[in-house]
Amino acid sequence: MQAEIITVGTELLLGETVDLHSSFLSRECVSLGIEVILHTSVGDDANRLLEVLRSAHARSKLVFLCGGLGPTMDDLTKETLAEFIGVNLVQDPEVTGRLERYFSNRGRSMPANNYKQTFVFPGGTVFQNDHGTAPGLAVSHHDVTYVLLPGPPNELIPMFEKSVRPFLLQQFYGKQAIVSQPLSFFGIGESLLEEKIKDLIQQYGNPVIATYAKEAGVVLRLTSKAKDERSARALIEPVKKEILARVGDFCFSEEDRSLEEVLVSSLAAQGRTVSVAESCTGGLLSELLTSVPGSSEVFRGGFVSYSAESKNQIVQVPADVLEKHGTVSFQVAEILAENTRRQFGTDFALSITGVAGPASVENKPVGLVYIGLKEAGSPARVYCYRLRGTRRRIRLLAAKHACFILQQ
Ligand code: ATP
Ligand code: MG
Repeated sequence: MQAEIITVGTELLLGETVDLHSSFLSRECVSLGIEVILHTSVGDDANRLLEVLRSAHARSKLVFLCGGLGPTMDDLTKETLAEFIGVNLVQDPEVTGRLERYFSNRGRSMPANNYKQTFVFPGGTVFQNDHGTAPGLAVSHHDVTYVLLPGPPNELIPMFEKSVRPFLLQQFYGKQAIVSQPLSFFGIGESLLEEKIKDLIQQYGNPVIATYAKEAGVVLRLTSKAKDERSARALIEPVKKEILARVGDFCFSEEDRSLEEVLVSSLAAQGRTVSVAESCTGGLLSELLTSVPGSSEVFRGGFVSYSAESKNQIVQVPADVLEKHGTVSFQVAEILAENTRRQFGTDFALSITGVAGPASVENKPVGLVYIGLKEAGSPARVYCYRLRGTRRRIRLLAAKHACFILQQ
């Protein structure tokens, strides 16, 4: 089943708004086993939109239209589609009542403009908007289903999750069950991951195997369809097993979760604690860990020892070690982890020292990062990485690698 996504709004073409909806909806489609074949962005221009609708109608069974459902003159998505499919919009009493209440609850009378938003497609579907005024809409015409969604992400995403996903499942799969199994990977790039399982991606259509890159790491999703949930799960199991046999070392969760969430919950389950010493990440690892609810059970605290002096005076890295090996070194990472663990009395300590760039430090290249891990009762281990990317990315990857090392 082929789908396409049309985002409407001149601000997208001016580069003022980054299109988030195409990627969001594409990911959702992948997990529903719907193939997205095209993304188009078009300005607030009825004629251009008509052109795009003509070609979309000819090639896709499902067409998303995002934006342009607002109350103003330049919001013309719904009206243009109505013209294209040759229907007159009708006023929906339920939507009208809801909108009038929306305004009266805010102590205002409904502006005349907003009555535009009470018109819907005859025989179509209405998706309630819990966060704004424009309802979402769906209508089918000549075997093509159009789904119209409001532009603001804080309206579109909850609407999709609450109403549109169930609608699509019902519309396209009827009584079939769909099961979606994510696998979260780290330490392997999306292209290498895909390379390793290319034959499986090509061989299997049910389950569909799709990867998508996250800010750090990759999620692979297996989505199967069958007459009931048990049969759909049974289709996934052997493929999942084969994937894990090949690249399981990089898989840290069989859910779509972040590394820090997985780490905090696994430490909490074991009743174990961690502290950190951060140099080039400047507190980012602490930020990641403490952003997880429940981290107070496992995270005791840490040092942001950014300068050589603070490594020496606060974390007691001997001056001669700093002098001889430099702050970005195996030895400093090791001592930072050992001393931090001792000072905080935790089960584990992680340390990070590296060159985030853009300039090199101590003649060491940008992206060189040492991560120390000390566990009570065992010698410290130090891992060395050559990370690539911007300063921001190197720092993020360093903090994520530290989480990955400890949760393994
Ligand atoms: P409104 O009632 O706010 O006018 P609308 O459905 O008419 O909603 P637009 O006017 O197209 O939607 O967009 C409203 C706002 O939503 C934009 O200013 C922009 O910030 C955001 N937005 C629209 N389209 C996208 C998109 N594709 N990706 C991210 N944000 C978007
Ligand atoms: Mg608008």
